Amino acid sequence: MEDKLEKIVSWAKRRGFIIPGSEIYGGIGGVYDFGPYGVALKNNIKKLWWQTFVSGRDDVVGMESAILMNRKVWQASGHEKGFVDELVECKKCHRRFKADDLSKEKCSSGGEHELTEPKAFNTMFKTDETYLRPETAQGMFTDFRQIAETSRQKIPFGIAQMGKSFRNEINTKDFLFRVREFEIAEIEYFVKPGDDEKSFDEWLKAWEDFVLNLGIKKENLEQYEHPKEGLAHYSKRTVDIQYKFPFGTKELAGVANRTDFDLKSHEEASGKDLKYFDEETKEKYWPYVIEPTMGIERLMLAIICDAFEELEARTETTEAKTENEIVLHFSPQLAPIKVAVLPLVKKLSEETKKIYQDLKTCWGDIEFDESGSIGRRYRRQDEIGTPYCVTFDFDSLEDKKVTVRDRDTMKQERIEISELKNFLFRKLNIS
Ligand code: ATP
Repeated sequence: MEDKLEKIVSWAKRRGFIIPGSEIYGGIGGVYDFGPYGVALKNNIKKLWWQTFVSGRDDVVGMESAILMNRKVWQASGHEKGFVDELVECKKCHRRFKADDLSKEKCSSGGEHELTEPKAFNTMFKTDETYLRPETAQGMFTDFRQIAETSRQKIPFGIAQMGKSFRNEINTKDFLFRVREFEIAEIEYFVKPGDDEKSFDEWLKAWEDFVLNLGIKKENLEQYEHPKEGLAHYSKRTVDIQYKFPFGTKELAGVANRTDFDLKSHEEASGKDLKYFDEETKEKYWPYVIEPTMGIERLMLAIICDAFEELEARTETTEAKTENEIVLHFSPQLAPIKVAVLPLVKKLSEETKKIYQDLKTCWGDIEFDESGSIGRRYRRQDEIGTPYCVTFDFDSLEDKKVTVRDRDTMKQERIEISELKNFLFRKLNIS
């Protein structure tokens, strides 16, 4: 299974999805750049998240807080003291590990590692004045009162944001799973104390449904209930949604019941009233907070692992019969390219381009490719997960029809050019 991850890493680089950061200088641990298809996939995930949880709901509003926040925020939130991992170091090879995630590799100086006692290591990136945020939640707490008032929302309601977060992880590994710079998408959902447990269950379901709607298979997901004694200092209950990655079943997303810990702590530290006033009952209280959270890069890795398939060559091409073929079964809404438009031979390019231009005004993410044999071009599109290829051939000049090829079934259908947009519209089923 680890082998699958290696294949994915090399595919991602070869096809311009994910590239190691600053690679021409030897890279920088745990930082990745996204190439043209990678950023398209990532943006599609983020767009769907926003549509589902912000624009698609009446009870959640969006925001974007700054990456840099006053250091006092991190003192009040408990991060300065408590955002720590246990670090151990090998006395022989001097490599450092997270104590709860020891490397399976042997010591490079021979034999087993000889480890130091664990010590607390704060994983926030320090700047001269403050820290780079390790999560986006705090901005939603510090601005809670203002956003509640300006948006005129009444409890229960949520604030959502998505954005860069930074963690100085002791060990970065497993590709996008544990990186130092990544995006978190999370919601702080404010409820009346007492309504928190019901709201928790609703969010856990909404969170899992979202992951399933992206096309991830149900059998690859698991829930993990954190035992009471292992809960973070602010949490009453935490459940992780785990994914069966090739390197093990690990956290993909989570939901936590943060109680009134954050608003209370910030009120105490800042001296500003962060309570909610209920107009109807005339009560004033600190709401409880349910926090569903997910990392976009981890989600992207899970989507890729789920969609990635290596098969024996299934496309008839004389030059590539023996090579294995890679197909990414992305759902149409996530696929970086929705449709590829291909002339059978270059001579037909001019006519084919008319179809391409027409589809481009509809969906934007359309590719035109005229180079190489038709089989090669189908394979290139399968490899980036394009759901449909449209081929214009010599018969098309006469019968005004094109061939539409389905990525997953490889079924080919002749469709009237005048009907093509409607046909694809129904097949893709996206806005
Ligand atoms: P872990 O136990 O794996 O370190 P965590 O419990 O510290 O994760 P949270 O603080 O709950 O993670 O972070 C919210 C989400 O951000 C996680 O569910 C995960 O998807 C993502 N995430 C956290 N750390 C990283 C990282 N180093 N690289 C990529 N994504 C991350």
